[in-house]
Amino acid sequence: MKFDIGIVGAGIAGLSTALHVCSRIDGSVLLIDKGRIGDPTKTSPFTFPDTVERYGLKDAVLQEYMRFTYRSPTGIAATFEYENPTLLTLDYEKACRIMLERIRKEGNAEVLENTQVTNFEIFKSFFRTKNLALWLSDSRKVTLDILVDASGKSFLTARKLGLKLPPLYSHPYGELLESCEVEDPQEMCIFAGRKYGNGGGWFYPINEKTARFGFATVTRTPDFPMVVVKQNFVKAREEFFPYNHMVTNARTARQELGTIPLGPLRRFVYPHVLIVGDAAAQATPWYCEGIRPALESGEMCGDTLCQAYRKKSYSARILKKYQKKWNKRNRKMYSKSTKIGFWSWFRSQEEWDRTVKEVASLTSESMLKRVRYSRS
Ligand SMILES: Cc1cc2nc3c(=O)[nH]c(=O)nc-3n(C[C@H](O)[C@H](O)[C@H](O)COP(=O)(O)OP(=O)(O)OC[C@H]3O[C@@H](n4cnc5c(N)ncnc54)[C@H](O)[C@@H]3O)c2cc1C
Repeated sequence: MKFDIGIVGAGIAGLSTALHVCSRIDGSVLLIDKGRIGDPTKTSPFTFPDTVERYGLKDAVLQEYMRFTYRSPTGIAATFEYENPTLLTLDYEKACRIMLERIRKEGNAEVLENTQVTNFEIFKSFFRTKNLALWLSDSRKVTLDILVDASGKSFLTARKLGLKLPPLYSHPYGELLESCEVEDPQEMCIFAGRKYGNGGGWFYPINEKTARFGFATVTRTPDFPMVVVKQNFVKAREEFFPYNHMVTNARTARQELGTIPLGPLRRFVYPHVLIVGDAAAQATPWYCEGIRPALESGEMCGDTLCQAYRKKSYSARILKKYQKKWNKRNRKMYSKSTKIGFWSWFRSQEEWDRTVKEVASLTSESMLKRVRYSRS
C-alpha cells in the first residue's frame, strides 16, 4: 500500500488533520486507529461555542452554559454569569463521527479502524528519495511520503525516537450519571483544590437528570493507578456538597477515564514526521483542555501538509511552518504555565483556596480568558 500522507490515531487531533488535508488537496490519505473511532471513555468534554462553530460540530453539542463556577472542596466558590452561552459540552463520539463522515465524503482517504501501527522507519526508495514505511498489526506494510503522529498518550514518535516525554500527566476519572437532581443545568463547574485529587475536577450537567462528574490526579509519571483516582471520586460523590445531594440516587451510565499529557514537546517536526494533539502534549497545562487545542493544531498541521503537497516537497523548511505557527500562537503561554504547573498542581489546599478567592474578583470575561489562555 502506498499513500501520500498517513495519520496514526483518529482521535480529535488526527481527525482534524485528516479533514483539513482531505478537503483541500487530492493527495491520498490513510487514517489508522488501533481502536474504534469515537473513544467512549471521553464522553462529554467541555469546549467553547466559537470552536464548535469553526469546526462545524454544532450537532454534537450536548449542553450550553450561561454560568461558570470555580469551587473548592472547602466550600469557597466564585460564580460568573454570561448573557450568552460561553461554554458547552460535546458528545465526543458524535463529534468524531461527524468529522469522519466528512472525511469519507471527500473520497481521498482510506480509514482503518482496529488496526495498530507497530513501527515505522525512514528508508531510501529506488529513486533515491526518502520515504517512510509503516508496519501494521495485521502484518501489512504501508509506504508514505509523510506521517502524522496523532497517537495521543501512546507517543508513537516520542518513544521511537527516544524524545524527552512531557513532565506532567493528568489522570482523570469520572462518570456520566443519570437520575440526578441537577440544581442548575446551565451552570458548569470546575473544582480547584487537592482533597479529591490535586488535578481538581468537574461537574458538567447535560440536563436536569444527567451530569458528568469527576476528578483528576496530576503526577510526574504517565502511569498512575486508576483505582486511586476512582476511590477519590467515590469519596467526593458521597461528601462533596452540594453535588453529593444532586447525585444521591444517580446511576452510572458510563465511566470516563484516561491520561492527559501536559507540557508540550519541544519539537513537533522531524524528518517525514509531524506530531499533533496529545502525542505532542498540546492540551493546556492550566485546565487540561485538549479538544480545542487538538482541533486547532490539527488545522495548523493540515495547512502545512497541504502546502508541502502542493509544492511536492516535504523539506524541513516547509514542514517547520507548522511548528513556527504553533510556537507563535502558544509556546510562551504553555511554557510559563508548565513551569508554574510544578508548583500549582502540588500546592496546599490553603493556596488553592486563596486562588479561588482571588479569581472571585475577576470579571466574567476575564475569567473566561483565564480558562482559555491562562491569563485574565
Ligand atoms: C476522561 C477525560 C476527560 C477529558 N475532559 C476534557 C474536557 O472536558 N475538555 C477538553 O478540552 N479536553 C478534555 N480531555 C482531554 C482531551 O480529551 C484530549 O486532550 C484530546 O481528546 C486529545 O486528542 P488526541 O486526538 O490528541 O488524542 P486521543 O484522543 O488520545 O487519540 C489518539 C488515538 O490514537 C490511537 N492510537 C494510539 N496509538 C496507536 C497506534 N500505535 N496505532 C494506531 N492507533 C493508535 C488511539 O486509539 C486513539 O484513538 C479529557 C480527557 C480525558 C481522558
